[in-house]
Amino acid sequence: MSEDYKSMWESLGLDLGAHDALLEVLGKGYQDIYLAQKDRPEGMSYFDFVMSEVHGLRIKELMDEKAAGRKVIGSFCVFVPEEIVRAADATFVGLCAGADFATEEVEKLLPRNTCSLIKSAFGFNLGKVCPYIESADMIVGENTCDGKKKSYETLKNLVPNLYVMDLPQMKSDEGKALLKAEYLRFKEAVEKLTSITIDAERLKKGIEIVNNKRKAIHRLAGLRKADPSPISGLDALLANQVFFYDNPVRFTESVNKICDELETRIEKGEGVFPKGTPRILLSGCPMAVPNWKLPWIIETSGAVIVGEESCVGERGTRNLTDDTGNTVEELMEGIVDRYFKVDCAIFTPNPDRLDHIVEMAKTYKADGVIHYGLQFCQPYLMEAMPVEKALEEKNIPCLRIETDYSMEDVGQLKTRVEAFVELIK
Ligand code: SF4
Ligand code: SF4
Repeated sequence: MSEDYKSMWESLGLDLGAHDALLEVLGKGYQDIYLAQKDRPEGMSYFDFVMSEVHGLRIKELMDEKAAGRKVIGSFCVFVPEEIVRAADATFVGLCAGADFATEEVEKLLPRNTCSLIKSAFGFNLGKVCPYIESADMIVGENTCDGKKKSYETLKNLVPNLYVMDLPQMKSDEGKALLKAEYLRFKEAVEKLTSITIDAERLKKGIEIVNNKRKAIHRLAGLRKADPSPISGLDALLANQVFFYDNPVRFTESVNKICDELETRIEKGEGVFPKGTPRILLSGCPMAVPNWKLPWIIETSGAVIVGEESCVGERGTRNLTDDTGNTVEELMEGIVDRYFKVDCAIFTPNPDRLDHIVEMAKTYKADGVIHYGLQFCQPYLMEAMPVEKALEEKNIPCLRIETDYSMEDVGQLKTRVEAFVELIK
């Protein structure tokens, strides 16, 4: 990394020693998991570049945007409407983290039996290794699961700019009214932060930018229906992860470029794994960078992942926002309608998610579903059982996995996944 980046990280208050150690582990993991794959699409070199610069060039871009007067807003959840952020010329970044860090410090503030995702976000903050958290002008928390909701009470004391959004837990008219009220309150907070009044034209533009990103990801997902699959699940997951960090217009172009290449591969009958390789749908908790453990195990155990029913995947990106309204009120309705369909397990009851998993398994011609629940994540672990039952009723095999970010269980997971792949062959 250049000296320029070092002074930038220093100015952000990062702990340079700890940060260097993190980048080293990240770089090695990427090399072993991503670069070791065979027959990757050439277009993935863009994502390799993005990952190599995820704490470098991308942060420099954010700093340049800030110097030009634009704000950076960070989020932990796909319920935070990016359209509103973009409408105020602000930059939206995902803050979820996918690796353990400073665990000892974290466990002084949070119970040990908190899910890895929450602990990781705290660890990156306490360890001073996340330039995204440090560059955010506003950090948005949301009242989703109990773990997140209660941990924000503690996070409020660690960061100066936490904004907490309330969210419904039921798909009722009252729930929708709450979501609408909270999105209007968020719009006002963003306007205050940026000193920009969000009018209909701005909101339309914000919707267009985010919809285009989603359309590109939908196109990529559609191409994964082919057998042989033209792209690995690991690479498709990476595109879904980068969705939260990259410049949206550049991201859209890059994903579309890969799709052009994948279409040619499909025409020629080329793929990353041989035709007939067992196909897996992954369902469950979100997988933030660099949480690649389970997909890596699956794709080195004789199967290919053809879809992600996850917030870093189709649960987060499906459905476009209606942009046909002409007033702020109408466009905000479109935003509320779109997000109210997100079927996170924090909702009760949550039958839409079960239907969506079955539908995805059919659409992507999956031979089986692996349900991924993070240890101590009650919403997804509890919902794993009805998911398994719904799949059983359709004769779709399901394997329930419960794990965390550590590598200790890799051997045991591999044995279980290999047995499942044998079963569905
Ligand atoms: S799983 Fe639920 S709480 Fe987590 S990012 Fe998705 S919508 Fe938000
Ligand atoms: S993984 Fe589960 S427990 Fe952890 S933040 Fe997400 S919903 Fe909450």
